[in-house]
Amino acid sequence: MKQMVAASVLLALNSAHAATQTVDCGRLLDVQTGAWRERVSIVIEDGSIKSVGPTQSSPTSGAAGNIDLSRHTCLPGLIDMHVHLTSETQPVVASYRDRLTADPADMAYRSVKYAERTLMAGFTTVRDLGAADGLNIALKRAIAAGEVPGPRMFTAGKSIATTGGHADPTNNLSHFLSEKIGPPGPQEGVVDSPEEARQAVRARYKEGADLIKITATGGVLSQAANGQNSQYTEDELRAVVETAKDYGFRVAAHAHGAEGMKRALRAGVDSIEHGTMMDDEVLALFKKTGHWYVPTISAGRYVADKAKDPNYYSALVRPKAAAIGPQLQATAGRAYKAGVKIAFGTDAGVFPHGENAKEFGYMVEAGMKPLDAIRAATVNAALLLDQPKRLGAIAPGFAADIIAVDSDPLADIKQLEAVKFVMKDGVVYKKP
Ligand SMILES: [Zn+2]
Repeated sequence: MKQMVAASVLLALNSAHAATQTVDCGRLLDVQTGAWRERVSIVIEDGSIKSVGPTQSSPTSGAAGNIDLSRHTCLPGLIDMHVHLTSETQPVVASYRDRLTADPADMAYRSVKYAERTLMAGFTTVRDLGAADGLNIALKRAIAAGEVPGPRMFTAGKSIATTGGHADPTNNLSHFLSEKIGPPGPQEGVVDSPEEARQAVRARYKEGADLIKITATGGVLSQAANGQNSQYTEDELRAVVETAKDYGFRVAAHAHGAEGMKRALRAGVDSIEHGTMMDDEVLALFKKTGHWYVPTISAGRYVADKAKDPNYYSALVRPKAAAIGPQLQATAGRAYKAGVKIAFGTDAGVFPHGENAKEFGYMVEAGMKPLDAIRAATVNAALLLDQPKRLGAIAPGFAADIIAVDSDPLADIKQLEAVKFVMKDGVVYKKP
């Protein structure tokens, strides 16, 4: 019911969208410089920011196309670099039931509300790091066409794993089902040689992905025994990275174990996701290569909590969740102290969509300055997306992605969990 109301409000707001608009902000956090600007007006034309300047003494308030946020604090739309918009956590019994009875179309309908919740939480851009059946690519198209309300998406299509690895879609199935389905190959995102790795990257290009996601080590939620072992040889990783470059793709590598991270960083991936067991050698490699770290503390906290419930995860997954989950937050703190470049990412889908902003609180708890946590979700994320002139800041030429909160998020980071205004590409989706 709540979702239906949100959708109808949304249509009303969208139809009121004008070609030229002005947003008057009481305060604006300039994430590029870290400075506050008081009484700022943002002029928007055709979805892009035209100018940012002091609010004139005769306020534009009341004029057509004017949005009065004079009692609010404005920031650029937030960016989450690690989500799975087409699935959401549920107890293991329901997951297995879905595996037997749900079609891709069922999952696609469910994902509509996940996308809307994410946008309403203030996240105007996300990087989707893996889904089966082309679901994330179809969702991206629907959002871009304005058919479904949601954040701007950059998607990896299907994650690429090795046989039995984290993201092999056939892990732990019965012999009967395995035989019916047959062994997955590069098309399904499973590779076992540099040659197949190249083929899998090209398959992602063909299916319409924007970037590549690989699972360099075991993972927590796959139905497999090990949560952190290396699952790629270095020559396979190099084949992924080299081929990705030919297609203009960046590469994100899921990794919990240190050896897998080292191989991935040496092979030239752009980001390490999770990075749970990074040691000093890994920290040094991050510094040397200048590659990015995406912590996903939210996922760690959530799976550690759910591991206490004996019925939530399978017997294979539960011990991994209990061992790996609690370590993530401390790792993020160590990486930050060491000066590793950090981009904001949560692994939403592992926990309910729309709760992405809790990550800010976890980052601050881990020792990050609030401004650095916000920069991780704006300017830094835009750099990792290779969109530094279009996303992550409120400045001329940038997409008109603007959010507002009630008061200073640097003094109270939890303000970001209660976003009151959301605009994406100049379209208002939420108003105070
Ligand atoms: Zn993930």
